[in-house]
Amino acid sequence: MDPHQYNIYYRYLSFNGTTTRYFPGTTKNQKSNIRSGAKKYTIVNGQLFRKPEEKNPQFRRVVKLDEAPSVISTYHADRPGGNSHWGRDKTIAKVKQDLYIQGLRGHVTGLINNCQVCQMARAGITTPPPPTTI
Ligand SMILES: [Zn+2]
Repeated sequence: MDPHQYNIYYRYLSFNGTTTRYFPGTTKNQKSNIRSGAKKYTIVNGQLFRKPEEKNPQFRRVVKLDEAPSVISTYHADRPGGNSHWGRDKTIAKVKQDLYIQGLRGHVTGLINNCQVCQMARAGITTPPPPTTI
């Protein structure tokens, strides 16, 4: 989720009377969108969570756009340099169990396309490249 959008929902849902429910300058129309959009989210332990849905019946932490690549990479490869580089669909399925990430499929596709281990596996290279000498 866009970090700004995250903050908007967070502020709305954590409203307790000490600040305003919306950021200053929010239009009537925007407020209406925030109210309906925020119904899908809740705050747990100070973090925004997506509420259970039919397809994903558990609370899932909302990941901000800027932390998505690093978070997804921990699901794609269980440990750095390990052999468990999951494919696109498996990676998506694993992430979806715990997290809500907007544009997840695109993020995962980009990550795998840029993953050196996966690229080598696709090219049929099973041994790591020799260390570069300077
Ligand atoms: Zn990989």
